[in-house]
Amino acid sequence: MNIILLAPPAAGKGTQAELLENKYHLNHISTGDLLRKTASRDDDFGKKMKGILESGVLVSDEIIFEILTKHLESCENKNLLFDGFPRNIHQAERLEEMLEKWHDKLDFVFLLEVDKEILKQRITGRRICRECGSAYNVNIDSLKPKVDSICDKCHGNLYQRDDDNEKSFEIRYQEYLDKTSALIDYYQNKQILYRIQSDQSKEEVFQELCGVIEKEMKK
Ligand SMILES: [Zn+2]
Repeated sequence: MNIILLAPPAAGKGTQAELLENKYHLNHISTGDLLRKTASRDDDFGKKMKGILESGVLVSDEIIFEILTKHLESCENKNLLFDGFPRNIHQAERLEEMLEKWHDKLDFVFLLEVDKEILKQRITGRRICRECGSAYNVNIDSLKPKVDSICDKCHGNLYQRDDDNEKSFEIRYQEYLDKTSALIDYYQNKQILYRIQSDQSKEEVFQELCGVIEKEMKK
């Protein structure tokens, strides 16, 4: 079983990825982590990667697939869960070719849909404890600290991360739309795109995801 998760920032993609990974014993592939891991290696390729990442230049599809293929060949678990990948149609096509080579295919592309205003509330309300790193949200009643700007657990001061403001949210959200709209069409045409309403609790979202999987597996 191979799955791709698509979601805007703050839609709970990481949480759902973890839940799916555990329930279906999936091999969670984060290309970002793979690139960083490669860059920490002490060989020539690692050094080259480190240079690319530090320069901030976009890593080419060529290099991404070289690393990805090598990594997957070494993995026993070929039930894959992709998170934040593919980023464009070219990568999507190459991913398909790669899976076909292994007589495999993509089964599900889940699009987690959350109303933009809700995402904005989630992001602009985030506060983090400077001392213990606990996360709060001043826009969500159940996640508010008991005392303003003070951590419930350690009484440390809470702060807002630089990019958790409305302006950078708008930029990140627009980037997400630009990047994913073509992919959404692409997978919709292949009839493997499933839209999941994700304005609900993480348990409810997860239940919906599992519902789709179980239903399709029975066919
Ligand atoms: Zn704290």
